[in-house]
Amino acid sequence: MNKRDYYEVLGLSKSATQDEIKSAYRKLAKKYHPDISKEENAEEKFKEVQEAYAVLGDENKRKQYDQFGHAAFDQMNGAGGFQGGFGGFGDFEDVDLGDIFGSMFGSSFGGFGGSRAASRRERGSDAILRMKLSFEEAVFGCEKDITIDVTELCDDCDGSGGHGEKTCPDCHGSGTITQEQRTILGSFLTKTTCTTCNGKGKVYDRTCSTCKGRGSVKKTKTLTIKVPSGVDTGNQLRLQGKGNAGRNGGPNGDLYIEFTVEKHPVYERDGDDITVEVPLTITEAILGCKKDIPTLYGNVKVSIPAGSETGDKQRLRGKGIENQSSRRKGDMYIVMKVVIPQRLSRDQKKLIESLADTDLEDQEIRKFNRFVENN
Ligand SMILES: [Zn+2]
Ligand SMILES: [Zn+2]
Repeated sequence: MNKRDYYEVLGLSKSATQDEIKSAYRKLAKKYHPDISKEENAEEKFKEVQEAYAVLGDENKRKQYDQFGHAAFDQMNGAGGFQGGFGGFGDFEDVDLGDIFGSMFGSSFGGFGGSRAASRRERGSDAILRMKLSFEEAVFGCEKDITIDVTELCDDCDGSGGHGEKTCPDCHGSGTITQEQRTILGSFLTKTTCTTCNGKGKVYDRTCSTCKGRGSVKKTKTLTIKVPSGVDTGNQLRLQGKGNAGRNGGPNGDLYIEFTVEKHPVYERDGDDITVEVPLTITEAILGCKKDIPTLYGNVKVSIPAGSETGDKQRLRGKGIENQSSRRKGDMYIVMKVVIPQRLSRDQKKLIESLADTDLEDQEIRKFNRFVENN
């Protein structure tokens, strides 16, 4: 799960253009291609580069990644992926060697925009967590404890990554090295990121042992989440600043909690409305009755008219779910279902038979029978 940031993998900043992404990808794919590379762990690195490009090279996936980080593509809890699911990474762009060699002497040097300021403040990535709620928890809201792994600024070194700060002796604090190159055409000044301090302009006597110089540490935290009432599957709650730590003093990313609401055995939810199917015996359906109907707010007595049929509907106003924003309650719909008994006692059978002898035929049945007779 400890994946590297895709931009970092490609050596790019978050504002890189598609051309820069493509160019960086080609350069690295060439460097790490298992068939030609002499680098250590080339195959692993090659895969990493491919995976990063599969996401960043696709504007849609890149957007998802920028918003949610790796979580956007992790199949957490077997929940089937994120917002419709991006069927994994099966769709890597294949690198063929011809392509790689073709670009070797081509324009593959324009990719990296020279010195990338390593000390730039960078916002931390967002994290996403999926939360299952029971029907009632979702409808009425609840409090839930969650345990999350977050990357936080290292307390011991305040995020600097080391102790005993000194100005970098090589770049004198500027983070860049300027070199003069003399050629027959004149002299050129080239600026490169200082490799001694990685562009920070500062060096340290000792690397911080707590964070091993990274400036951030992974922590497991327990948070109590107030789930508002009325949430539904797919709704997200944003907890600002509860995502991963930023770099170089950049702000934390956000934590998104995405809800999945479990099905209720009796209630069917449609937005703020609820439908409940009410089974009726044939006598209840024929004669009508008063019936206790379960609602979210307790049972209510409802008159079922005589002659009810399967599919007949009644609306119970305001017995639905309270809307999150309007604070108005939806409605409950009760839908009748006449249950025909599958087994009758001898006595019951007799009663039904005697009923059959009476004239039960209504308009619809008479019309049909007349058609049969004349057919
Ligand atoms: Zn330096
Ligand atoms: Zn530290």
